[in-house]
Amino acid sequence: MSQRMQGQPMIVLGDDAERMKDEDAQSHNISAARAVAEAVRSTLGPKGMDKMLVSSLGDVTITNDGVTILDEMDIDNPTAEMIVEVADTQEEEAGDGTTTAVALAGELLKNAEELLDQDIHPTAIINGFDLASERARDEIDAVATEIDPEDTEVLRNVAETCMTGKGSEIDKELLADLVVKAVENVTVEAEDGSSVVDLEYIEVQTHEGKSVSNSHLLEGTIIDDEPAHEDMPTTVEGDVLVLNTPLEVQSAEANTQLNVEDPSQLQKFVEREEEQLRALAEHVMDSGADVVLCQKGIDDLIQHIFAKNGILAVERVKKSKIELMKEVLDARIVSNKDAIDESMLGYGTLTFDAENDWFVVESENSHNVTIVLRGTTEHVVDELERGMMDALDIVGAAVADGRVIAGGGAVEVEVARRIRDYADGVSGREQLAVEAFADALELVPRTLAANAGYDPIDTLVDLRAAHEDGDEHAGLNVYSGDVVDTFEAGVIESGSAKRHAMSSAVEAANLVLKIDDIITASGLSTEGDGDEGGAPGGPGGMGGMGGMGGMM
Ligand code: ADP
Ligand code: MG
Repeated sequence: MSQRMQGQPMIVLGDDAERMKDEDAQSHNISAARAVAEAVRSTLGPKGMDKMLVSSLGDVTITNDGVTILDEMDIDNPTAEMIVEVADTQEEEAGDGTTTAVALAGELLKNAEELLDQDIHPTAIINGFDLASERARDEIDAVATEIDPEDTEVLRNVAETCMTGKGSEIDKELLADLVVKAVENVTVEAEDGSSVVDLEYIEVQTHEGKSVSNSHLLEGTIIDDEPAHEDMPTTVEGDVLVLNTPLEVQSAEANTQLNVEDPSQLQKFVEREEEQLRALAEHVMDSGADVVLCQKGIDDLIQHIFAKNGILAVERVKKSKIELMKEVLDARIVSNKDAIDESMLGYGTLTFDAENDWFVVESENSHNVTIVLRGTTEHVVDELERGMMDALDIVGAAVADGRVIAGGGAVEVEVARRIRDYADGVSGREQLAVEAFADALELVPRTLAANAGYDPIDTLVDLRAAHEDGDEHAGLNVYSGDVVDTFEAGVIESGSAKRHAMSSAVEAANLVLKIDDIITASGLSTEGDGDEGGAPGGPGGMGGMGGMGGMM
């Protein structure tokens, strides 16, 4: 998107195209973006409110999740959409901090508007925001606390803080524990001593019907199938053949035309097919395979032969699992039956779990772990899964980063303080923008307080005083309204997610500030029709301005 903004496109306007320039365009866009930010702000923090979203079909979603809200809001204003994109990127890249990112973008724009009113040029504001954002990243690192990747206590806190308010409240401790154990399992130490976390090795398998407390972590991966034949062994440690082609013979296909002149011919044909199937079974067994995992079907006769020879076979295994077996078992995936031989085999243990009707696959050379996540209903399981996925990302990020920060607004107040010091040395009008950035950061503690029913100004005054006294971890206890050491209290967040939230908020705000001309193609109105789709409670001008392509 930014690229599109940079060139100097030639714009040819139709007779009835509408155009908005400079201040008008800016204030129009800022209003739209702020409306979105305001819509999600009241959900920030553990005491944030939920939103009830009713779709045009009448489906009701009740959620506290910034991204979900924005996705469901069906916003059709291009500027507002940019802000929604911030949330999407934050969710994708960090897994948490979406509300923070969007609320910050809105606050930055609010403060920018005041500077614009004082005739400060947008370019100076943009530069100031960039300077401040870069500095803020460094300051977050500077105030972050180094952690030992094996410090499970801190990591559990990080997981719990992340899952707060995400519908997993009651089982937060159990789930946080599973998340931390899973991440531990896939963390390896790099040569330089840093920790590398490979979240790809963690699978989350969801099941409805039992309560959350039956959730657990198992080493290995799950293949959600049963043995192809009831007489096959159910637990095998040995060589595994992995196939993505059927174990059948060609002539059995339905489209083969057979002209049978006398019954003996048919008999011969059947015999020949049987021979081919037996040969194929022998060919597979010659490779030394103890287990056969096949993405496609396995002929009944071959299944029977395997069963008699004590070979375990599983047919119609999901493609994704077949591909995973390559890694887990160190096997090669066979797609041509002629290529079956010893060199293609992997090695591992398959254990059939009759109660759950699945195999657990383990091997020495893989770190794969599976979180079996249970919940009473689909709705519960889905909600838990979302929270758990976010927590996995965040705990993984904290381990990889090796640093965490104090939440409850503590890091924002501390970084704001440091940015104000830094602003003193910034010359020109940029200085005002750097200060405006610092003020915007304090939106987080103010909003946490307001959402919990405390006075935002009093809270901020107390927090600033504590930080002036050198208490870098002073944040808000949203349950008591007191200023506490939030790190001690276990409200701990990932520094990298916070860095990401701050920079993407600035990027979005700057994108909006760069626009000084809105040209709306004819037929699309700039006002009026935005009410059903737009952000509730926002300032006007949320109408559908579809034709943003030629905007500068
Ligand atoms: P986001 O989408 O930005 O993650 P959340 O609704 O999850 O928004 O709120 C995150 C904010 O809530 C962070 O600033 C975090 O420090 C704060 N927070 C989370 N748990 C607590 C708590 N127990 N006490 C105080 N603040 C908390
Ligand atoms: Mg969160």
